[in-house]
Amino acid sequence: MRRVIPYGRQEITDADVEAVVNVLRSDYLTQGPAVTAFEAAMATKVGARHAIASNSATSSLHLACRALGVGPGDEVWTSPITFVASANCARYCGASVDFVDIDPRTYNLSIDALAAKLAAARRTGRLPKVVIPVHLAGHPVDLAAIRALADDYGFSIIEDASHAVGGAYRGEPIGNCRYSDITVFSFHPVKIITTGEGGMALTNSAELGRRMALLNSHGITRDPAEMTKAPDGPWYYEQIALGQNYRMTDIQAALGLSQLSRLDAYVARRNELAERYDELLSDLPVTVPFRDPRDLSAFHLYIVRIQSAQATAAHRRVFEALRAEGILVNLHYIPVYRQPDFASFGFDPAAFPQSERYYSEAISLPLFPGLTGDEQDFVVSSLRNALSAV
Ligand SMILES: *Cc1c(COP(=O)(O)O)cnc(C)c1O
Repeated sequence: MRRVIPYGRQEITDADVEAVVNVLRSDYLTQGPAVTAFEAAMATKVGARHAIASNSATSSLHLACRALGVGPGDEVWTSPITFVASANCARYCGASVDFVDIDPRTYNLSIDALAAKLAAARRTGRLPKVVIPVHLAGHPVDLAAIRALADDYGFSIIEDASHAVGGAYRGEPIGNCRYSDITVFSFHPVKIITTGEGGMALTNSAELGRRMALLNSHGITRDPAEMTKAPDGPWYYEQIALGQNYRMTDIQAALGLSQLSRLDAYVARRNELAERYDELLSDLPVTVPFRDPRDLSAFHLYIVRIQSAQATAAHRRVFEALRAEGILVNLHYIPVYRQPDFASFGFDPAAFPQSERYYSEAISLPLFPGLTGDEQDFVVSSLRNALSAV
């Protein structure tokens, strides 16, 4: 039987199954104690004051934009090398999206490009209301540098930390929001820990936390202090804003809480596998991931770049050869400005030379805690063969 090696895969233990079954046998499948417990545990783990669980990081990003008041006429900037959700959250609010080219070394949004774009935007009066840096592959973006620019130009910061739960920036957990207004995590099965589908927004602001919790559940409050009228009776509640139903279920939260106990072990294992890749690939014409020794990457992805004069052709052939071997390599990501549904914004790919070059060279190799040494050796030997054939 030919083996298939995915680029990412969840790990579900007996303890996870038991935690979920316990909820299924309990009184509450949703809006019970598990969601509150998962929020509290995650807030404690990363050192943020408030945590709001939702049904996806996409939903949490939308809540974050709404809580920060993003609306028509506003601009939101993010990295083009990300999942579409990092940009769509602004569009849900009727705002415009723009992109900042990536750093050729980290593949995160470039601080120099951001500084230059902000200076130009100040002259034209088109400054962003929010900037959404993405910790691509789990490698922390330089948050202190973005904070300094935010203080100068007056924008808010939402960290898209979908890849970065369990990582650390300058020795402090990603998600503590020391430099940002809100941080968002994803618990999709390919990410570091999972709830099936799920997301979470963290913040140190009581007001942002309150607004996100309100909008997460129909904009309905049962707190008399928030109501505009005197309660008609004990049944009374008020809708005071147009919210969504983005709630996480207790079934999902129980899985997340159980997975959270293994978060540090998963990040350690991912780093161990990444270091092994670095060694095995050291004599091949590929660029291995950069990391800043001051930070801890959660290593959601292990991205290599093909070094070749004809990178675009070689890239595609290597990709196809690995897929033919059952190695389900992927490309994270197609630059978002290339998506047909973003055509109305009129982006010119030539404005993002680093992202374009990245797109012609990047391949995500399989990386997940259950990847065996043998499988990793097979990935590397297949890559070696594919590179020598191009
Ligand atoms: C996965 C991902 C999202 C969306 O996460 P969901 O939980 O699937 O909605 C957003 N941004 C990035 C960078 C992601 O990788």
